[in-house]
Order: sequence, then C-alpha cells, then structure tokens
Amino acid sequence: MKQIPPAPGMVYLVGSGPGALDLMTVRATRLVGEADAIVHDHLVAEGVLGLARSDAQIISVGKKASKHTVPQDELNLLLVRLAREGKSVVRLKGGDPFIFGRGGEEIETLCEFGIPFEVVPGVTAAAGCAAYAGIPLTHRDHAQTVSFATGHLKDGSVNLDWQALARPRQTVVFYMGVGGIAEICRQLIAHGLPATHPAAVVQSGSTERQRVLTGDLATLPAKINEAGITSPALIIVGTVVRLRDKLAWYAPDPSKGRRKAR
Ligand code: SAH
Repeated sequence: MKQIPPAPGMVYLVGSGPGALDLMTVRATRLVGEADAIVHDHLVAEGVLGLARSDAQIISVGKKASKHTVPQDELNLLLVRLAREGKSVVRLKGGDPFIFGRGGEEIETLCEFGIPFEVVPGVTAAAGCAAYAGIPLTHRDHAQTVSFATGHLKDGSVNLDWQALARPRQTVVFYMGVGGIAEICRQLIAHGLPATHPAAVVQSGSTERQRVLTGDLATLPAKINEAGITSPALIIVGTVVRLRDKLAWYAPDPSKGRRKAR
C-alpha cells in the first residue's frame, strides 16, 4: 500500500505580550491551549506554559541578550521538523513577534520549506511598559513621533542613526538598552539633546516585579547601576517621561511576583 505522507503541520508565531498573562490576546491564549508543541523563548508571559495541554511537547530555546542557547538556524529548522511531523506548533515569543523578535527570520525559513504559518501579534514591551509606568509614548504637547530602537551593543558601540534619535518632539524607546545605557545617553547628548532631557527605565513592566526609575540623560546611567536594574528592561527617552509624576497608576505588589514562567 502506498504510504500517505502526514498532513503538513502548522506553525503559529505567537506574541505573548509584555509579561502579565492576561495581557495576552484571546487568540494567543487559545492557540497555546490547543498546541501539540510549544517552542518558547526565555521571555514569555508568566504562567503561559500552564495553559498548555498536559501532553504538549514543550521546548525551551531560551535566549538572553548575549547567551543564545539554540543557534537561530537550528531553531528555524526545529520548527520545520516539528511541523513536518504534522503538529500544530506554537512558536511563543515575548511581546510582539515582529518587533525585535527575529520572527521574520523564522518564518522566512518556513516559507522556503513550504510550511504554512500564521502570525499572532502581541502587546510589545514598549506599549506594555509605557502603559504600566504611566508614560504615554505620544502626547500632543510632547511628542508626535515615537521610535523603537535596539540598544544591544556589539563590541561596545551602538550603530544607530543618533542624529535622527536626538531630534526633539519625539519619544525614543530602547529595547535591550540597559547594558549600553551609558553609551546611549552619551550619544544622545553628543547629538544635541540637553543633559537634562528626561529618561526612564522600566524593569519587568506590567508584572508584579515592575520597577520604574526616572531621571535624565545625565543621571539615568548611575541610577540604573545603583539600583541594580537588570534585563528585561526598557529605556524611554523623551519629555513624556515627566507625565509619570501625574499619571502613574500602577502599584505592583512584589510579594506576588514570581520569577519563572513555569
Ligand atoms: N518581541 C519583544 C521584544 C524582544 S527583545 C517585544 O515586542 O516586546 C527583548 C527586550 O524587550 C528586553 O531586553 C527588554 O528591553 C524588552 N522587554 C521585554 N519585556 C519587557 C518587560 N516586561 N519589561 C521591560 N522590558 C521588556
């Protein structure tokens, strides 16, 4: 008898939002609950794996800034292999999969291998942290533009268009910027922003462990150091940061904070 090849599986590239489980979309929640296999990063919403089927295959490919546990090309092929086994695969990422998430690279490989996929957007860290820190990213009196940049340093320098990022009346959000904060502030000042330009850091935004520090380009690096702020943390630069004095509404309860997703 002729062997019938297994039906091709499906890969869902899913954003799990900024941290709080109930900030995940309804669609993401449903797909996680239905998946045969879940391939997840280090940074996913807390408790999300608890929504998975008890027989689901759970694979961690945890990534921290400089420590890649699974090389990207291997990971891309892992998704292909799981899908070819006929599985419904959820590739789970923090925030939104298309914002500093390498989601594009992963589905390019799926395209090459003819694997069907869907992309499920998530609340990106910039939106989640801004909301929970009481810092609107745009405001008619402050910023008409908002830019998302990566502050991840390669060999100690950040290769960004500093001229553009130092323009007034905009908010700039740096993902992965804690390690490079001194260089980021130095460059923004060198390209024309005053040393007194407001800046904030939000650690573990939207969770019970959220911490927010505000200052300016001159003071924020030392504040971050002294407070021992660590990843995941987001830097927000712009005069909108001043609005937090009035608009901060979220009071996290660190005694409820849990450290691990599972
Ligand atoms: N795709 C993700 C970003 C991945 S890059 C998204 O759309 O949000 C990882 C970086 O995101 C971290 O280094 C940090 O800068 C930021 N980040 C993610 N979750 C965060 C959180 N809860 N609080 C603060 N920063 C966060």
